[in-house]
Amino acid sequence: MAAPGELLMLENFIDGKFLPCDSYIDSYDPSTGKVYCKVPNSGKDEIEAAVRAARGAFPGWSSRSPQERAQVLSRLADLLEQSLEELAQAESKDQGKTLTMARTVDIPRAVQNFRFFASSVLHHTTECTQMDQLGCLHYTVRTPVGIAGLISPWNLPLYLLTWKIAPAIAAGNTVIAKPSELTSVTAWMLCKLLDKAGVPPGVINIVFGTGPRAGEALVSHPEVPLISFTGSQPTAERITQLSAPHCKKLSLELGGKNPAIIFEDANLEECIPTTIRSSFANQGEICLCTSRIFVQKSIYSEFLKRFVEATRKWKVGIPSDPSACMGALISKAHLEKVRSYIKRAQAEGARILCGEGVDKLNLPLRHQAGYFMLPTVITDIKDESCCMQEEIFGPVTCVVPFDSEEEVLRRANNVKYGLAATVWSSDVGRVHRVAKKLQSGLVWTNCWLIRELNLPFGGMKSSGVGREGAKDSYDFFTEIKTITVKH
Ligand code: NAD
Repeated sequence: MAAPGELLMLENFIDGKFLPCDSYIDSYDPSTGKVYCKVPNSGKDEIEAAVRAARGAFPGWSSRSPQERAQVLSRLADLLEQSLEELAQAESKDQGKTLTMARTVDIPRAVQNFRFFASSVLHHTTECTQMDQLGCLHYTVRTPVGIAGLISPWNLPLYLLTWKIAPAIAAGNTVIAKPSELTSVTAWMLCKLLDKAGVPPGVINIVFGTGPRAGEALVSHPEVPLISFTGSQPTAERITQLSAPHCKKLSLELGGKNPAIIFEDANLEECIPTTIRSSFANQGEICLCTSRIFVQKSIYSEFLKRFVEATRKWKVGIPSDPSACMGALISKAHLEKVRSYIKRAQAEGARILCGEGVDKLNLPLRHQAGYFMLPTVITDIKDESCCMQEEIFGPVTCVVPFDSEEEVLRRANNVKYGLAATVWSSDVGRVHRVAKKLQSGLVWTNCWLIRELNLPFGGMKSSGVGREGAKDSYDFFTEIKTITVKH
């Protein structure tokens, strides 16, 4: 890491070597608004070098047994775990999230991603069926696809990047990863552990830079047959266009406009703190965060009063403050975008009950140019409003009343997205009925964000294409072939 006062200079990692770049982009500490790091501004040349390295490493890596590859993944998990504190400090500084979040969620999950796929890759089977009347046996085999292009966002930097790298290399592919240019530091730190873990040169290449330059060069490269992307819907559209001439395999994990549906028989003691977390965890910068809360009319006033009280206690603080629930937003541009949604809601006649423009934020002098804002609750807002339709991806949530189950289902489904939903009720029949009818890839009932990594993760409608998980990621990162043998 850089000495105090010095800029941290990142380098690309290609073919097992750190390589400088011709130009660099500034990277900001979101809690101070100051530049603290320089990220390579890579383009076609760097992607070309990474393709050469990944192509060269593919025959050796893909011909290792799953057990041999799993051992490498497990060693990498152990090394990451040994560096947990250092990585958590770096993630928190780079992203603006609280150190507590980085320590307890981001980095432990990155460790778990490698451990999980090291284990799950050992348990896949293929199919076999017979056609005795014709003397035929049919069976399937799976082979790695080749060079996987992996593009990840800034909200859970190492967590989401490793959720792609681990299954891709476990299945025998070599990879070129491009993390978000806003949060590249922990990916660069990961590169320092690869040699010690026994990852051969060229198996994992990390090229840093912006979407339009490095990202598009990767997506457009004819020798990269597969792109796994997590990010926003407009970027997914561009990636789909660039991939179309090559018919690439695409996995797209995109945004959400996630509803929470709270029925009158909900246990509010559990529902309120969980819905506070689901709305504001990680500054509301999680694709699974709740941003539309539908509350049954009979409990609406009580819910709103208690929810606003609890929101006011959700402390915004500098990332290293152990009592802070929320740190800084990712960038100045993003902070301004989030604030602009609140202004638009006000202009449409909605009411801001707490947070932005209503309450006062207290921060130490050194952090006053940081990208902080208070968690904000909006009400008296129409379903057609942009705050109820578009992904804000910040600490802003809307609360509205509803009468009946049928009505709330219609309204909850009335958005272009379909990623995650939560349902709160003590009526088991209703929970199953509503969960089934929600247009959403994930439904949590009476809880939020409890993940079982074996099962499919992903969204429907504009929230994505494809799923990730033990079997789904394996299917995506391999090609299947059906072989018929006549005897
Ligand atoms: P983004 O789409 O702006 O960027 C994501 C990545 O794509 C970055 O690495 C970026 O550099 C790259 N990129 C940008 N333009 C590109 C282009 N033209 N070609 C190739 N690559 C390009 O998204 P973001 O702002 O970093 O992340 C926030 C979004 O990610 C939100 O919409 C959020 O909901 C979504 N997200 C989804 C999930 C999920 O699992 N469904 C998880 C986390 C975040």
